[in-house]
Amino acid sequence: MLEKIPYHPAAAPSHPKAAEWTPKFLYRDPADPPKVTIRDDFYGTRRKLRIGVLGAGISGIDFLHHLTENIPAESYEVVVYDKNEDVGGVVCRWVLIYV
Ligand SMILES: Cc1cc2nc3c(=O)[nH]c(=O)nc-3n(C[C@H](O)[C@H](O)[C@H](O)COP(=O)(O)OP(=O)(O)OC[C@H]3O[C@@H](n4cnc5c(N)ncnc54)[C@H](O)[C@@H]3O)c2cc1C
Repeated sequence: MLEKIPYHPAAAPSHPKAAEWTPKFLYRDPADPPKVTIRDDFYGTRRKLRIGVLGAGISGIDFLHHLTENIPAESYEVVVYDKNEDVGGVVCRWVLIYV
């Protein structure tokens, strides 16, 4: 037996036409709750790209340079992992040895 429940979207629709498409109620089966969490977003809502960079050597630093130069900061979140405490990788290590 389906239950009619009122629906209140978390965010007000920004597009004027969206109000026409937004359902006023939903049907849900209380005996069979959804097994997945459904995000309360409108279709086409953009999410931030989540980027993980492994290694802060010259390749990782170069990637970060191009990322920040070419991609708007609000469209991604980035985390850099490195096994060492400092950045630079091989380049910095060998420069220190040669100096
Ligand atoms: C003696 C020597 C001389 C060189 N001379 C030149 C030169 O004259 N000209 C030239 O163009 N190139 C030279 N190179 C090559 C150049 O240094 C490398 O090609 C370049 O540094 C590679 O950069 P990378 O960021 O890909 O790797 P790396 O510099 O090795 O950086 C990798 C990073 O990843 C980290 N890392 C590795 N494994 C993990 C892990 N499991 N978890 C987290 N972090 C991790 C490391 O700590 C490091 O910071 C030389 C290399 C050497 C060894």
